[in-house]
Amino acid sequence: MNDFQKELVMNLRKFCQDSIEPHMEHDDADGKFRMEIFQGLGEYGVTGVTLPEEYGGMGLSYQDYCYVLEEIAKFSVPYAVTVSVSSMVQTILKNYGNEAQKAKYLPALTSGQEIGAFALSESHAGSDAANLKTTAKKVEGGYMLNGTKMWITSGGIAKTYIVMARTGGEGAKGVSAFIVRDGDKGFSFGKAEKKMGWKTSPTRELVFENCFVPTENLLLSEGEGFKVAMGGLDRGRVAIAAIGVGCAQRALDEAVRYSLTRQQFKQNIFDFQGLQFMLSDMATETEASRLLVHSAALSLDSETPNSKLCSMAKLKATDTAMQVTTDAVQVLGGVGYTSEYPVERFMRDAKVLQIVEGTNQIQRVVIARHLKKEYEQHA
Ligand SMILES: Cc1cc2nc3c(=O)[nH]c(=O)nc-3n(C[C@H](O)[C@H](O)[C@H](O)COP(=O)(O)OP(=O)(O)OC[C@H]3O[C@@H](n4cnc5c(N)ncnc54)[C@H](O)[C@@H]3O)c2cc1C
Repeated sequence: MNDFQKELVMNLRKFCQDSIEPHMEHDDADGKFRMEIFQGLGEYGVTGVTLPEEYGGMGLSYQDYCYVLEEIAKFSVPYAVTVSVSSMVQTILKNYGNEAQKAKYLPALTSGQEIGAFALSESHAGSDAANLKTTAKKVEGGYMLNGTKMWITSGGIAKTYIVMARTGGEGAKGVSAFIVRDGDKGFSFGKAEKKMGWKTSPTRELVFENCFVPTENLLLSEGEGFKVAMGGLDRGRVAIAAIGVGCAQRALDEAVRYSLTRQQFKQNIFDFQGLQFMLSDMATETEASRLLVHSAALSLDSETPNSKLCSMAKLKATDTAMQVTTDAVQVLGGVGYTSEYPVERFMRDAKVLQIVEGTNQIQRVVIARHLKKEYEQHA
C-alpha cells in the first residue's frame, strides 16, 4: 500500500468503526438496510471510486478500489456488496452509455445519493444467463418489457436498474440492455428473499408487466445487451474477491485476538500448536488471496486486462473467505457459534461470495478455457 492508499483506508476505517460497526449485530438480525450509511460512504467518495471526476467519481485506480472494498467488508460484507454492485452499474454506464445517459444517471450514483442495481439472472437462467426469457418488444417510441428477474441485489432500494431483456432470437445475440428506474409504470418488486447471510443487503425479485422503456434508455444497440452484461464481469469478479479478502481478514483478526486471551488448561489457547497451525494457514491463505486480487486489479488498471487472473482471484479469495471464516468459528469454540462475536455473521456472509458473479465452478470453467487456449497455441 502506498501513502495515499494508507490514508484513504485509515479515514474510511474510522467511518466504518463509528457508523457501521455499532449497527451490524442488530441490523443483521432485523435485516435492516440504512440509506444513511450508504450516503455516508458517498460523502467519503467511496461510492464512485474509479469513475472519472467529470462524472463525480474519485478517478482512482482499481487497486485503490480493492483496498476500499476490503476495508468496508471488514465491517460489513453487505454494505461492501451494495457499493460494488452500484459501482459496476456506473462502469457499465461509463463504458456503454451515451453522453446524455451518463450526464443524467451518473452524478447521483457516484455521489451515493442513489444506488444502482444489475438485473441479469432469472429463475431458470443463472449460470446460463444467455437463456433469459424477459422480453422487450419494440413499440412506438420505445420497448415494452415483460418478465421477472430473480435474486437482484439492492432490489427495492436502488433507483437505477440495468435490465437485460430479449429483443431478438434465442441466445446471447438476442439480448439488449435497458436503463429502468424505480417508479417506472409496469415495474414492481416481487418477494424479498430470506437469506442465510447478506441480511442487510436486500435481494428482491423484479417484475415487469407491460413496462414501457423509451428508446433513449437502450444501452448501445439492440442485440448488444450481453456484451454490456459481460463487459463489467472481470471487474465485478475482482470486486467480489476484494470483499472476500476483507471478510477473511476480519475473521482472522477476531480469531487471533480471542485465542490470545482465552485460557484453557491454564494457558492461552493460542499456545496450543494445533491452533497455531490453523491460524498460520488462515493468515497465509488470506495474504495469498490479497496478492492475487491486487495482481488481477493491476491488470484491470493496465491496457491488458487478464480475465483468467480475474477468475482466479475470485475463486481463490472467496473459497478462502469461506474456509477462514469457518475456521474462525472453530477457534472461538462455543461463543464462535453465537452472535456474541461477529465470526458467525462473517461465515454466513462468506458463503454467497462463492455463488455470485459466476459460481466458483464457472470460474474454474473460465480458467480451464484459458488454459486450453494457451497450451494449444504453444503446442
Ligand atoms: C444473494 C444473491 C445476490 C444476487 N445478486 C444478483 C444480482 O444483483 N444480479 C443478478 O443478475 N443476479 C444476482 N444473483 C444471482 C446469481 O448470479 C446466481 O445465483 C448465480 O449466477 C448462479 O445461478 P443459479 O443460482 O441459477 O445456479 P445454477 O446456474 O442453477 O447452478 C447450480 C449449480 O450448478 C453448477 N453449474 C452450473 N453450470 C455449470 C457448469 N457449466 N459447470 C459446472 N458447474 C455448473 C453451479 O456452479 C452451481 O453449483 C444473486 C444471487 C444471490 C444468492
